Amino acid sequence: MFHVKHSDTIAAIATPLGVGGVGIIRVSGKGSLALLQQLFSPSNGDKAESHRMIHGWLAEPESGQKIDEILACYMKSPKSYTGEDIVEFYCHGGMAVLQRALKALISAGARQAQKGEFTKRAFLNGRLDLAQAEAVLDLIKAGTEVGAGYAVGQLEGRLSRVIAGLRAMLVSAQAELEAAIDFSDDLPDFDGRSLAARLLQISQDMAGLIRSASGGRLFRQGLAMAIVGKPNVGKSSLLNALLGEDRALVAGTPGTTRDTIIESIDLNGLPVRLIDTAGLRKAEDGVEKLGVERTSREIDSADVVLVMVDASSGLDSLDKEVIHRTAGARGVIVLNKIDLGLKANLGSLSDEIKGWPVFQTSALYGQGINELKAGIFSYVSSWAEIKGKDYIMVNARHRECLVRANEALARAQQAYLDGMA
Ligand code: GDP
Repeated sequence: MFHVKHSDTIAAIATPLGVGGVGIIRVSGKGSLALLQQLFSPSNGDKAESHRMIHGWLAEPESGQKIDEILACYMKSPKSYTGEDIVEFYCHGGMAVLQRALKALISAGARQAQKGEFTKRAFLNGRLDLAQAEAVLDLIKAGTEVGAGYAVGQLEGRLSRVIAGLRAMLVSAQAELEAAIDFSDDLPDFDGRSLAARLLQISQDMAGLIRSASGGRLFRQGLAMAIVGKPNVGKSSLLNALLGEDRALVAGTPGTTRDTIIESIDLNGLPVRLIDTAGLRKAEDGVEKLGVERTSREIDSADVVLVMVDASSGLDSLDKEVIHRTAGARGVIVLNKIDLGLKANLGSLSDEIKGWPVFQTSALYGQGINELKAGIFSYVSSWAEIKGKDYIMVNARHRECLVRANEALARAQQAYLDGMA
């Protein structure tokens, strides 16, 4: 492990800004302990020992004015998150207290840390590899427990181990090949066929990881789902039914200018962003102006389109128009109001909705909602290659590296085949 020495000591409020029981300020760098000694008076003369909490008062360095009664913990390098000396101050969680404490640290010589700088130092000091450092952010941002579980797996080194395994196989293949070239007289006949078979296996493993990147994106950003359908088919009712007890998740996240995310839900562990559609609100401008262009835009920005029709009446031209607009998208059909009977016949649309799962619900009575959730989850899992709890969340950077590595492998395999010809 190598240590990069940074000249400055950084400080930041580590807990979210707001009111809470506890607010933490983290300081990292070789001046951390000096800052502790300068700003903090232990209540019973305790000396700062590594990894031990001490109780006392935090005060402004010049005036000596007390800021807060706190606990502090010194973590001596290299046994800390960043690998440097760290001091954490556990203050009361008020905005003013924390800002004042941070200001005091800065006037005593610390520098305000940039976003992600602690994790960057952890990476530079070899405490985390890059995939693990990325996992820290994934973990913090995870919107569902399942997503958080995958991020923890990565933090704990799951992806790094798989990559290390692939790398080891490639290095051994390379060594074998070089030995065969350099010592062709002394070594038994080189078995090109076995080497090519191994390269193929590695390449297949890589392809699997590359495919799982789409699922990684879904867990990071959430699956964008648009609920479309003509007015009064029950879209708002379905939205409420889906939100149900999952309402605890963040609501009202503003999205891009193209779409507005009105709600996020936890769909069996997959974070789903429901896109506000023209149809989600009542189409006040009348049935004719369904907002076809808007619906098209929503469909474009969605990962999955949920097309809702009224099961109890036959499909009319508006239903067909909506379905027609979704052609080429990934979607599911929901036949709602099943409590009133089933008259809608999708037969004539079978080409347009090929491969789309069809569900029957009564949004009003909460019927079929769990089946719909599970169905959407398994539909998404099938194309996003989300598999079980050992799933590895490949991100765009990993994907890019894997694609390049796999292209190189393809060239190696081709070279072998050419040599055989
Ligand atoms: P939207 O315009 O597509 O958002 O439709 P709404 O959710 O506002 O529903 C329109 C009307 O249909 C309301 O009176 C709902 O109570 C009713 N509704 C929605 N879902 C169902 C259902 O599954 N069964 C029955 N019988 N009525 C429903």
